[in-house]
Amino acid sequence: MRCGRGHDEYVVIGGGVRAVARRLRGRTNIELKSPGEIEAMRAAGAVVARTLRLLQNHARAGVSTGELDELAEQSIRDAGAVPSFKGYHGFPASICSSVNEQVVHGIPSRTQVLADGDLLSLDCGAILAGWHGDAAVTVHIGTVAEVERRLSEACRAALEAGIAAARPGGRLTDISHAVQAAALAAAAAHGTSYGIVADYGGHGIGTAMHMDPFLPNVGRPGRGPRLVPGMALAIEPMLTAGGDKTEELDDGWTVVTVDGSRAAHWEHSVAVTDDGPLVLTVE
Ligand code: MG
Ligand code: MG
Repeated sequence: MRCGRGHDEYVVIGGGVRAVARRLRGRTNIELKSPGEIEAMRAAGAVVARTLRLLQNHARAGVSTGELDELAEQSIRDAGAVPSFKGYHGFPASICSSVNEQVVHGIPSRTQVLADGDLLSLDCGAILAGWHGDAAVTVHIGTVAEVERRLSEACRAALEAGIAAARPGGRLTDISHAVQAAALAAAAAHGTSYGIVADYGGHGIGTAMHMDPFLPNVGRPGRGPRLVPGMALAIEPMLTAGGDKTEELDDGWTVVTVDGSRAAHWEHSVAVTDDGPLVLTVE
């Protein structure tokens, strides 16, 4: 689904942002938060983290992604928050559930029943008191193949490396480079190669889910906006066990790998502070 209403820099979709044109060129309008506003974002992030933990505890063979979606919506609303994905450019659910070769933006369904060996990515967003949180985890259903366990581990390591690079004084693509370098290092350590999905990436976050700047998951360091305290970014690497090419299904949302390889997706919302990176989407 190509929306981009009011956004000439990227197409905005579900739990990620698709770059289409100017990317880091051109002007960006980056929202800076006060320390008090960062605290408010932590509260929103905690709702997301709590919800994802609930879903991780419930995700098992025989459970449908539709059931997980209902649990997520209840968890978010019970916290006095609003599920940000629901109705977002017409998205019909409170989470994205992407199974196996689905990379991101999978639509939960009562008919999509999880099976032993599935690799499930869960992406969740919530708005609390006007502030957004956005995070994703990849979950093993039952026993997954070792190669997929490592894929998810590599993606999580890439996220952690990206978070560590979100420091004042750096530049935006220091994060991109750290994500890419960590993914490559993990692939080398695992004696394999991973596709680093470059069609989608992270984004600024705050009073809206998807804000400037677009954050690529690959690239040379030292480019893009300078990282300053008060910036908040959703960092979200997506890795595949095969190639990096993706396509969107006819449902207008679900993004799958072209080669059918399985994918992992990890995400945190992170603030740049004087004391370094602060992960917002934790309990
Ligand atoms: Mg997300
Ligand atoms: Mg996101």
